Amino acid sequence: MDILPAETELWQYVEKTLCDKAKCYGFGQLRLPTFEYSELYKRGVGQTSDVVQKEMYSFYDNDKRNLTLRPEGTAGVVRSVIENSLVNEAMPLSLYYLISCFRYEMPQTGRSREFYQFGAEVFGADDPSCDADLMTMVDDMLSTLKVNASLEINSIGCKRCRPLYHKALREYFSQFKDQLCPTCLERLETNPLRILDCKSPICKEIGKNAPSTVDYLCDPCEKHFNGVKSYLDAAGLDYKVNTRIVRGLDYYQRTVFEFISEDIGSQSTICGGGRYNGLVAELGGPDISGIGFAMGLTRILLAMKNNGVSVEGTKPHIYLASMGENAKLKAFVLAKELRKLGITALFDQVGRSLKAQMKYADKKGVGFSMVIGDSELENNKAVLKNMLNGESFEVELAAQEIARAVEI
Ligand code: ATP
Ligand code: MG
Repeated sequence: MDILPAETELWQYVEKTLCDKAKCYGFGQLRLPTFEYSELYKRGVGQTSDVVQKEMYSFYDNDKRNLTLRPEGTAGVVRSVIENSLVNEAMPLSLYYLISCFRYEMPQTGRSREFYQFGAEVFGADDPSCDADLMTMVDDMLSTLKVNASLEINSIGCKRCRPLYHKALREYFSQFKDQLCPTCLERLETNPLRILDCKSPICKEIGKNAPSTVDYLCDPCEKHFNGVKSYLDAAGLDYKVNTRIVRGLDYYQRTVFEFISEDIGSQSTICGGGRYNGLVAELGGPDISGIGFAMGLTRILLAMKNNGVSVEGTKPHIYLASMGENAKLKAFVLAKELRKLGITALFDQVGRSLKAQMKYADKKGVGFSMVIGDSELENNKAVLKNMLNGESFEVELAAQEIARAVEI
């Protein structure tokens, strides 16, 4: 995916806002490798997930190791937490990441084969307040970025209550065997919960009347879900219980949630997350709980742009035009000194005529310009022109003085 300079300003703003916010909530950044052993994703994301079944970019390296370009962040985070013994640190442990992901799926608005995610995970906190705090953080992030999104939550129970729910789902969906898509027919045997996540319109329609997870929760799961709701209420967050949300990972337990935006077309999920209490143990670590989310940066930017949110691009501050070799040398040295003072400075590197230099400066949208020629060199003074209001005044040919003048 190419992201061009005209766009990166907004990307940097979004990334910085997300990282700064995460820090306020006690998160530290984890940087992860781009590929991992394929086995990690098969176990960490789950064999019956779409990601593993259809979307992974896997390959063999020269040593015949089966590797996969990361399709998501959680499995890599859990591997890293175990491998680096972070599980021995003070719990809860809160980590965030900013990564590119790769999935083989049909490119369309809001969906590409390489995309960027901001994600966060909390380990070792089971309490509903942790679930609610994580959602509060996402809400805080999105509202800071002026992205409108509504929160939908659900609880999909735990190992204890899931079998009963699976049974009810199997009974329900078995009536529609002749209408379900081939993948869902398989899911009926392997993981009927996943049928509720199917993108096919027919399966979606059938799923509408399927039994709801929340009617099958065991007492501790129900108590946990009620706890999450109370904390969300206390935080003043608006949310809706949507019993159709099950999320894509096989290891999700209890709380699952999504932030949905109406501003970005059909790929409307900006952020998805949930609790995955069995995952750390499944990947060889101790039996500690985990919860996390990931949001798609492309979709966030799309929502911001559709709402007319933009950031001021940093235009080059000053263009130092020159006439003659000595003047060019002066412009070169002045530019170097101005940059040390934090000023963006450009000079002629092409050998253009003065007229062509000014045309270039105009195209670059500089705030100020200055022409240096023989007489300016002789007097050690030049005229600084404010390109916005046309005002001009004389300054000394010294970086400090120019910097002071353009920063006013
Ligand atoms: P979807 O239902 O849209 O396919 P998902 O369940 O596959 O989403 P997750 O694996 O939970 O998505 O990823 C979290 C977020 O990453 C999504 O909510 C979305 O914003 C973003 N995302 C996922 N896949 C893509 C993609 N191919 N292109 C752009 N963004 C994506
Ligand atoms: Mg997907």
